[in-house]
Amino acid sequence: MYHPNLIRTDETRHIDNCPALVLNADYTPLSYYPLSLWPWQTAIKAVFLDRVNIVSTYEREVRSPRLEMKIPSVIALKQYVRPSEYPAFTRFNLFLRDKFSCQYCGSSHDLTFDHVVPRRAGGRTTWENIATACVTCNIKKGGRTPAQAHMRLRLAPIRPTTWCLQENGRAFPPNHLHESWHDWLYWDVELQG
Ligand SMILES: [Zn+2]
Repeated sequence: MYHPNLIRTDETRHIDNCPALVLNADYTPLSYYPLSLWPWQTAIKAVFLDRVNIVSTYEREVRSPRLEMKIPSVIALKQYVRPSEYPAFTRFNLFLRDKFSCQYCGSSHDLTFDHVVPRRAGGRTTWENIATACVTCNIKKGGRTPAQAHMRLRLAPIRPTTWCLQENGRAFPPNHLHESWHDWLYWDVELQG
């Protein structure tokens, strides 16, 4: 979901595939959705500006006449930044709020987005008016409201808090994480189910 091209062989890793996971001063990720990642150039710049501590590094090095250093894989801000209470309104976050399941039938296949109040009836594209729906339910509902279509939403669509998405995210870990990041993320197999 985040960096599909990340590969595990560290020394041969392409330099553009060396983002740093950015932790807040309390060593929790600065943000989860999207995951706070900086390109290596930004990370190294922050190191030299003395704004971050290096927590972990890749094997890959950068060299210049004045500099030779391993690329940071995890950095922590020296100054605490107050996390935002609400996550960004993105397709991924919307699926995550709805736990990747159709809000009408519960299916987890062929998911798309449904305007609860249809656009032609003035329905807007907001957290409160978009629900995850499978293609079948979406077609069945057509340009009608749930009441008109006699279809019930399992949960009323609401704007989730960052905390709420983090809770849901534990069950849906992204696939491509560098091993040095694992200790700093909450995703925990035991918490699934
Ligand atoms: Zn459905």
